[in-house]
Amino acid sequence: LQHLEAKIENKVSKDFPTVKFLNYKNRKRILVTGGAGFVGSHLVDRLMLAGHEVIVVDNFFTGRKRNVEHWVGHENFELVHHDIVRPLYLEVDEIYHLASPASPPHYMLNPVKTIKTNTLGTINILGLAKRVGAKVLIASTSEVYGDPNEHPQSETYWGHVNPIGPRACYDEGKRVAETLSYAYMRQEGVSVHVARIFNTFGPRMHMNDGRVVSNFILQALQNDSITIYGSGKQTRSFQYVSDLVDGLVALMASNYTQPINIGNPVEHTIEDYFVRYIYNESQLVTEFALIIKDLVGTNSKIVELAAVEDDPQRRRPDISRAKKYLNWEPKVPLAEGLKTTIMYFAKELQKTKHSQKN
Ligand code: NAD
Ligand code: UDP
Ligand code: UDP
Repeated sequence: LQHLEAKIENKVSKDFPTVKFLNYKNRKRILVTGGAGFVGSHLVDRLMLAGHEVIVVDNFFTGRKRNVEHWVGHENFELVHHDIVRPLYLEVDEIYHLASPASPPHYMLNPVKTIKTNTLGTINILGLAKRVGAKVLIASTSEVYGDPNEHPQSETYWGHVNPIGPRACYDEGKRVAETLSYAYMRQEGVSVHVARIFNTFGPRMHMNDGRVVSNFILQALQNDSITIYGSGKQTRSFQYVSDLVDGLVALMASNYTQPINIGNPVEHTIEDYFVRYIYNESQLVTEFALIIKDLVGTNSKIVELAAVEDDPQRRRPDISRAKKYLNWEPKVPLAEGLKTTIMYFAKELQKTKHSQKN
């Protein structure tokens, strides 16, 4: 048997990134819905490298095959083109449920579909988890706190969401996804974990994502104007994608079942530097647009556009729960993560230019 194991290990490492060899007892069958997306594909890398069997289910609305193409053909990997609004029947041990558009322009494109994905889709995933007895992790969001009256946001805060505004399809969709998770836990004994994810960035973000990180980097790289929506006084706290993946894996491995914030607590205004005096925070608030300008070394102008409707004004996670129960906290400093991301977008721009030429 050892001889056979060694043979398999060699075969695998010859053609693919080196994966750990796990015997059948330790190897899990893991479903990642939305696994071809930005966060999902980084999670898939982590799970594959650890030696698990990974099934990605994705409808490729915002995800791309190229995000996971380096695993296609690997015997531990399966890519299934499927829309989770329809039922799915698989046999798995764990489910990371990430399928849902995440950036505001994407989820507002087809609000009805966004609601269906987060409600009907989540029912199907919980039904599947119930049938096969799988542990399930639901990717929820800081958007469940809406435009918060409590700062920083801790998990005990119930939120301040406009139920009929343009963001409601996503915010309320995720709130129902959480409600469904705890209903399945209480009524059906499903083992659920709920991660409330705060703004995350990194390579493989979609070029047309429309989120602040990709917009500002692309604008800076092309010497275009950097677009501030509204006053720029609004704040966000940005975490690098590898920190998020650490948090998700730690949460799945834990027995903790209450919602848990996964985010970086270092807060930035989008542009306006007066905010740091207004709020008199002990934590330094720095302007995100200027950080990007500085790192890219661009002459881009900064322009102020109309504010977007229902834009949350302040966002910073209280991560004491994650520290206490998961022994998790983010490790990657903003500038370090941004440098990697800027390099990624610079290469993507080069590729686009190259393909336009040919
Ligand atoms: P993404 O858009 O890159 O990935 C989402 C993936 O889900 C895509 O591959 C998409 O094709 C797939 N998908 C969407 N609808 C589907 C459906 N009906 N059936 C099957 N697949 C479907 O977004 P992301 O940033 O990787 O986000 C992943 C998850 O994390 C989402 O659930 C999102 O709500 C959550 N989240 C992300 C952030 C963030 O800052 N990135 C913040 C909070 C929460
Ligand atoms: N479901 C699924 N895969 C499964 C089991 C269930 O997609 O392996 C779907 C099923 O279509 C159902 C939903 O999950 O609509 C909820 O399942 P549950 O067992 O809770 O509900 P019921 O089937 O009793 O309506
Ligand atoms: N934003 C901006 N310019 C842009 C894109 C976004 O000023 O080109 C602002 C947006 O209004 C919000 C913040 O940046 O206040 C973060 O927006 P994003 O869409 O990245 O994520 P959100 O946290 O709102 O889901």
